[in-house]
Amino acid sequence: MKKLIDFDKIFNHHDKYKEKEINQERITYKEVHNLIQRYKKSNLFNVEKAGESIEMKEIYSLTIGNGSRKILVWSQMHGDEPTATAALFDLFNFFCDKDEYDFFRKEILRNLQILFIPMLNPDGAEKHNRENKISLDINRDSLKRVSPEAKVLWKAALTFNPEFAFNLHDQNCYYTAGRIKKTSAISMLAPPYNYNNSINPARTKSMQLIASINKNISRYIPGQIARYKDDHEPRSFGDAFIGNGISSLLIESGFIIGDNKKEVIRKLNFMALISAFNSIITADYEQMNENEYYSIPENETLLFDLLLRNLHTSANGKDFKIDLGINREKKYQKETGTFFYKGKIAAIGDLENYFGIEEHNLSSHTVKPGSVFNCEYKSLPSANEIINLLKNGYCSLKLDPFSITFLFVERPINVVPSYIKYEPLITVDEFANLSIFHHNEIKFIVVNGFFSPVENYPNSILNGVVIS
Ligand SMILES: [Zn+2]
Repeated sequence: MKKLIDFDKIFNHHDKYKEKEINQERITYKEVHNLIQRYKKSNLFNVEKAGESIEMKEIYSLTIGNGSRKILVWSQMHGDEPTATAALFDLFNFFCDKDEYDFFRKEILRNLQILFIPMLNPDGAEKHNRENKISLDINRDSLKRVSPEAKVLWKAALTFNPEFAFNLHDQNCYYTAGRIKKTSAISMLAPPYNYNNSINPARTKSMQLIASINKNISRYIPGQIARYKDDHEPRSFGDAFIGNGISSLLIESGFIIGDNKKEVIRKLNFMALISAFNSIITADYEQMNENEYYSIPENETLLFDLLLRNLHTSANGKDFKIDLGINREKKYQKETGTFFYKGKIAAIGDLENYFGIEEHNLSSHTVKPGSVFNCEYKSLPSANEIINLLKNGYCSLKLDPFSITFLFVERPINVVPSYIKYEPLITVDEFANLSIFHHNEIKFIVVNGFFSPVENYPNSILNGVVIS
């Protein structure tokens, strides 16, 4: 392995370069805008306005280096996928520092010219939405380029003419790295440029570079690097760039159990880019081949947030044994600056070959839909009263609609406006509100996808919603 730096050392030093002004869970346009002003003053970066979003927020580009090998890197074309943007600002801090890695920095500046576009979709980022202001997915707009953001990216590629392009995203947390119970922490793809999944020289280089990154960073997360599914999408930028001879790489920030804020994933992104630059300068990737790329396990959707196994359910007087897979959709509420969850039943049946981030084997238990307490409350009842409702199998209560000024409830109970008829069901796509019995005695309860023994349901997680 050809290395200009000690990867293990820099992995352990990441914290030194970590941009403390931003939190990788959510990054606002204002934060990026403020940080960019700092780099405008640096003579290391050439900071330019690459264009603007529909809401006229500036989209910035930062260029570094004078080398002949050109690399285009962009992040957050999906506004709710900020992890890589944080990693880019860590990387900028790394470039500005002076320490034992000076030789590597010098080699980067001498050999490479890198154009960064952090946060291509500032309007989406502001609302923590995937799409832009007019709900258009920028990564489905590479052909028609209706959105100003797609125009910015296309123009950057056209005028800069990069050899490599890095397209940085976040994937959902339900992927495993192959058919094993290990989450996909980072997944990468050399996108196909046609439906035949053909390989051209540009794609071969992308595959080689991915294999090289995998070789260099997989020891930090053994068995948790995956290959993103290679379905061709002609409207996405990676596919279009490869078709035009640019070696494009998709890097998706995944999930590691316990790393809910994605701090480790942010560091792995940083390492993936450091390793890629090293590999391009040293030509390390040229030693790799397609087989090494294809030997990276493919992303599989085998995970649920909560998997309840071997439950009994009955219908028409007959008994059935089922598994329940439940996912909690993360929603951002701008008014309070917090995330809350909508927990829904994602799958019912034989889930033996699936995994849960949280799992419970509930054989000899019976599941029933959580009930709705039908008397109208004028305001949210006390914590004790809520615990009492849970103990009696109630997961939702009815509230005077004029007292509902919120979208989620901090306490473990769902709220239904009293004029709404809500009939809980155990069906795919329904809210996950369940009561679980053992010999006719209620033992566990699931409120909005959160599982707990009924005796000690925690009362402070953001786990009730308004069902309307
Ligand atoms: Zn994305």
